[in-house]
Amino acid sequence: MTDCLFCRIVAGELPSERVLDSERTYAFRDISPAAPVHVLVVPRQHIDNAAALTAEHADLVGELLTTARAVADAEGVLERGYRLVFNVGEDALNSVPHLHLHVLGGRSMGWPPG
Ligand code: C5P
Repeated sequence: MTDCLFCRIVAGELPSERVLDSERTYAFRDISPAAPVHVLVVPRQHIDNAAALTAEHADLVGELLTTARAVADAEGVLERGYRLVFNVGEDALNSVPHLHLHVLGGRSMGWPPG
């Protein structure tokens, strides 16, 4: 059994609130939402983070982005706007070492991020 939290969520070994999924991606609600809409889109295959991506992952990354758009549409924030975030490494406070794309929306946001 893997000890990767998000691999276990994708496998259904740990509970999550599914929003959308596809053959290669899984989208679920963040357990500690930072905005009214806060969904994580992850690849089903384990990839540590965005810095581990290579040209071989191009199709998969495209699917993460189109899934994020579908999430924004399903969550009703497509027109108003939303933010997509990949945190990478310590300075960015990346806490779970399985690639995940944050989809944040439903409120006005500040820039630059803290
Ligand atoms: O980008 P970062 O690694 O900081 O984001 C991890 C995210 O995973 C956090 O927003 C956290 O709330 C979320 N999380 C979750 N379910 C868990 C553990 C973490 O949704 N069981």
